[in-house]
Amino acid sequence: MADVTQTTRKRKRRTPEHVHDAVIVGAGFGGMGAAIALRERGREDLVILEREDDLGGTWHVNRYPGIAVDIPSATYSYSFAPNPYWSRLYAPGAELKKYADHVAALFQLRPYMRFGVTVEQATWDEATSTWVVTQTDGATVRARLLLTATGFLSQPKLPDIPGVDTFAGKVIHTAAWDADHDLTGEDVAVIGTGATSVQLVPEVARLARHLTVYQRTAIWVTPKLDGPVPRAVQRLFARVPLTQRIARGVGSAILEAIMVTGVLRYERLSAFNRAAATAATRHLHRQVKDPDLRRQLTPDYSFGCKRPTFSNTYFPTFTQAHVDLETTSIDHVDERGIVTTDGRRRDIDTLVLATGFDLWDANFPAFTITGTDGKDLGAFWRSERFQAYEGISIPGFPNFFSLNSPWSYSGLSYFTTIESQMKHINRLLTEVDRRGATRFEVTEEANARFLAHVRHQVESSVFAHGSCATSRSYYFNQHGEATLLRPTSTLNAFREAGRFPLDDYTLVS
Ligand code: NAP
Repeated sequence: MADVTQTTRKRKRRTPEHVHDAVIVGAGFGGMGAAIALRERGREDLVILEREDDLGGTWHVNRYPGIAVDIPSATYSYSFAPNPYWSRLYAPGAELKKYADHVAALFQLRPYMRFGVTVEQATWDEATSTWVVTQTDGATVRARLLLTATGFLSQPKLPDIPGVDTFAGKVIHTAAWDADHDLTGEDVAVIGTGATSVQLVPEVARLARHLTVYQRTAIWVTPKLDGPVPRAVQRLFARVPLTQRIARGVGSAILEAIMVTGVLRYERLSAFNRAAATAATRHLHRQVKDPDLRRQLTPDYSFGCKRPTFSNTYFPTFTQAHVDLETTSIDHVDERGIVTTDGRRRDIDTLVLATGFDLWDANFPAFTITGTDGKDLGAFWRSERFQAYEGISIPGFPNFFSLNSPWSYSGLSYFTTIESQMKHINRLLTEVDRRGATRFEVTEEANARFLAHVRHQVESSVFAHGSCATSRSYYFNQHGEATLLRPTSTLNAFREAGRFPLDDYTLVS
């Protein structure tokens, strides 16, 4: 026995720490796209660390009733891995999770993944030009490249309402749905009226004896042109992939038009934005006859300041006798229910928190990242303003791609962002390999140039020219700047990813 232990110790001393090609943090669609891009450039020794117990990111975590994609499915998927079998124009959430599993199998990504691993910090080691990634259990992984794909909407936000933790009934955040908890016949309260609530509320109303929805800020809701995809169309998509590519092209063009005209070029094209607001207002008027209720459900900020939603069932839910919309502010929650500032109380069985996600405090980055000379990414972003060259690289952080960065979200479908980032990674690593480089880092000049460009671009958007002050939109950071979306067309994002000047990066062999 003693011999065996000694041998093990000797082996441990002799074995140098393994250095992987890359560590990717996050096994959602972003992380999987990054892995596919890296393998195209010959990086096969990958580790994908994932906090959850399975892959799929948002679509593994979020399982609340009514969850569905709000971008047409032919568009909300990788262009290189089309799925002809989406059941509806807007697929339900479970199909997205299945699609993630399918892509992982198609590209054999599962063997790289380690689940239930939370990353605490990543530190650049200049001496070896490697990243040391430390998990909360103390274990470390070392790699030549670090890619973070930790999502934009992945840190659930609990409301800062006094007494929430004293409520004696059931509390469920929508990002941690308890499928075993039956809402049938219960008195339920939902706090929040964002995109999640718009999908969830009609489903809760079907089950609950009484439902109160607490709204702080109304949301723009336009009609949802949804429906099942007939089997014949699915078969056509499978047999003639070009037909689905055309469907994707049409969907993408419509989204692009909405984004560019309604949001990004608002200064010159505000008529498009007003047309969208009019469509949403008419939708409300068709579905709700009570003028007081209509007034309460009408936003007081410009369309596009926060992500608009699509639903045919949200507004009519509030016309049902057992559903109340409560717009008086919540004063506190106690063990029995919710008390509003006018002293009224509502006793409930279950409190549903549809209160969204914390992007700007808990995210960006999702864990401590330390680059050259001890530069802390979170501190840098907060003190020097949020920035990232082409939404992916930051000076002082060599061999690092931050996929969920300020200014990175391009267009309305997340897959546009992912695929343009894959293209950027591919272009840079091709040059890295050609020059036999071991270290790359974006230059201060290139970063400053990009930052000046996007800041200039955003000046034409609804965020600068619209009326956004009351929107409480997560597109804005804590300094009041709209630094989440890339304020260019998606075509521009793709083009730049394929032609950015290579000397925007310093390469060292
Ligand atoms: P959200 O848009 O941030 O909405 C959170 C809601 O909670 C808001 O109405 C907010 O009110 C309210 N809230 C937060 N804290 C509160 C407090 N202390 N008191 C009262 N109300 C409070 O979050 P979400 O609805 O989860 O949606 C997030 C994003 O996820 C969406 O914009 C969308 O991009 C994505 N999403 C996508 C889909 C899809 O189909 N693909 C579905 C759902 C969500 P205020 O507005 O007043 O802050």
